[in-house]
Amino acid sequence: AAKRDGRGTFRFFAEDMNVALRRRRAMETDLRQALARGEFELYYQPQVNLSTGALTGVEALLRWNHPERGFVTPDNFIPLAEEIGLLPQIGAWVLREACANAQRWKDMTIAVNVSAHQIHAGGFETLVARALAESGLPASRLEIEITEGVLLTQTEATIGTLEQIRALGVSIAMDDFGTGYSSLGYLQRFRFDKLKIDRSFIASLGTDPSASAIVDAVLGITRALGVRANAEGVETEEQARMLCERGCNEAQGWLFGRPVPASQIDTLLADRITAAAE
Ligand code: C2E
Ligand code: MG
Ligand code: MG
Ligand code: MG
Repeated sequence: AAKRDGRGTFRFFAEDMNVALRRRRAMETDLRQALARGEFELYYQPQVNLSTGALTGVEALLRWNHPERGFVTPDNFIPLAEEIGLLPQIGAWVLREACANAQRWKDMTIAVNVSAHQIHAGGFETLVARALAESGLPASRLEIEITEGVLLTQTEATIGTLEQIRALGVSIAMDDFGTGYSSLGYLQRFRFDKLKIDRSFIASLGTDPSASAIVDAVLGITRALGVRANAEGVETEEQARMLCERGCNEAQGWLFGRPVPASQIDTLLADRITAAAE
């Protein structure tokens, strides 16, 4: 009986793996066609000045509108896209699309996420320069977000690329600050324009004393270095108040607005102009 169970179990796993493999292959095929079929869409999340509450910019967040699965979020397809070498194309589309939309949102900055693969692939600075030229978006309104992982390998070359991008007038933000594997040493080698405090620290603000200690420490670093700070994932008034008290100048999160399609940012800005005129 044990033998039969054993074989049964093995067959069960084998079938399971087949299903997983087939699903992955299907996903791969779909992903290869997604760009041509226009299934990608950028959503935009508001970024606000914490002391005035004013909308200062938006972060572009990629969505895949899959014909059967519905909206797929980036964590569920970007790793696969990287693996099969599609990210450079998708990333180039993201940059062009984000710059083209942001061009009409006067005085607003646009933050675009970029992964290690995109930067290490080479020619990234050319892509940025082209997206700016084609859209007419002033470089000062574009911000590139990278994570600590980007600096883990090919550090010298990466810093070189970031410096070239910054020479165009674009700002560079460190995303998910405090969650990567790198040391603080890179802050000395490259001067970021902004550090984005990871959502995990903000989530436990007010409940876990170590979270506020960490947030204080990060804000201490940003002040000492003259770098801007952004708190990610602010969901409650309490978190916003604590951040404001600590001198954090910018935030984003569900409290201020979820990621929305470009048309809703248009509406938001039109309302703002109407309100100012009244
Ligand atoms: P990220 O850049 O750190 O983006 C913040 C994530 O937190 C987004 O998830 C956003 O929807 C979510 N979020 C924002 N406010 C709140 C909040 O108050 N509470 C909670 N619980 N979540 C909040 P999303 O859109 O699923 O994106 C996940 C990650 O995928 C991003 O993390 C970014 O690293 C990556 N990503 C997104 N778009 C792109 C892209 O165009 N290119 C590349 N390479 N990566 C992208
Ligand atoms: Mg980001
Ligand atoms: Mg983040
Ligand atoms: Mg992230």
